Amino acid sequence: MKECLICKWMREKENVVYYDDSIVVIIPELSYVKYHLLICPKEHIESIFDMPKDEYIKLFDVMKKIGKLMENKLGADATRYTLNNNHLRVSKSSMHIKHVHIQVFPCFGELTDITGTQRKKLNKEEISETKKEILKHV
Ligand SMILES: [Zn+2]
Repeated sequence: MKECLICKWMREKENVVYYDDSIVVIIPELSYVKYHLLICPKEHIESIFDMPKDEYIKLFDVMKKIGKLMENKLGADATRYTLNNNHLRVSKSSMHIKHVHIQVFPCFGELTDITGTQRKKLNKEEISETKKEILKHV
């Protein structure tokens, strides 16, 4: 059985831009827009329905913190969020994610297209550069 992609990114730490006792924020390798981030529980949990209330409140607290960072420090005009729950199959790729997470999409001018057509695979340098820019403000 393949390792959970989000757990893998957490373990490798290269994509991690923030963490606390229960939440981790990750730069996904397939990005829709600059500063696209994933906010995830540190523990492998497949569904928000299985999370105790105090744990999903922590997820939303970090979402608020990251949204403020995007809008107040990184120049986003607005932010969009999606909450991904249970088994997510990423179309046209072999990615399968079973780890609850909130995706954060900053909008610069126009509404960010999150239909998948604009998705771009980031290389290690792009992930490292994005991480550096975000860490200046965290
Ligand atoms: Zn996982």
